[in-house]
Amino acid sequence: MDFKINDLEREPIDFDLGLAPGAVDFGGEAEQVGALAASGRAEVLHEHRGPRDIVADIRLKGHLAGNFQVPCARCVEPVGIPLEADFDLIFRPVAADSGAAERAITAPETEIGYYQKDSLSLEDVLREQVLLALPVRTLCKPDCKGLCPRCGENRNHQACNCEAGPSNPHWEALAGLRDRIKP
Ligand SMILES: [Zn+2]
Ligand SMILES: [Zn+2]
Repeated sequence: MDFKINDLEREPIDFDLGLAPGAVDFGGEAEQVGALAASGRAEVLHEHRGPRDIVADIRLKGHLAGNFQVPCARCVEPVGIPLEADFDLIFRPVAADSGAAERAITAPETEIGYYQKDSLSLEDVLREQVLLALPVRTLCKPDCKGLCPRCGENRNHQACNCEAGPSNPHWEALAGLRDRIKP
């Protein structure tokens, strides 16, 4: 769903959507499970920079809720994460700040996003909000044992035989001996 600045200039647009998986591309970072609910309102905020310099910003305020799966940071098994977040964001037309380098950008302004051409994509905003809301590092459980770096076995399911190996000098010596005996 795109919010066009011309439509918003006439009146605010309320939205209440259920987005099917795939409608928003989360890349490899997260997988959406079931519908992603997004509701709220888009409206224009006029920024008066001077008598003839009025910038039409888009304010997007709303709520999102959905279920996601992200890989465990240690064993890469999918971990379910229910997400719910409120957002209240301001987007400025990209052209309005094309000379931004010369203007002093004050701290609160660094929070401002931009919209391209004459519209703002709700899907783009949702992608960013979901990725921001997801934990930086997800574990399937606090004591996840992870994958064996040697054979790739998930050590939560099954202990593998490599574990006792090279970390134990006794076994290392035996392994070396066995290699030498091999024809
Ligand atoms: Zn894990
Ligand atoms: Zn192993």
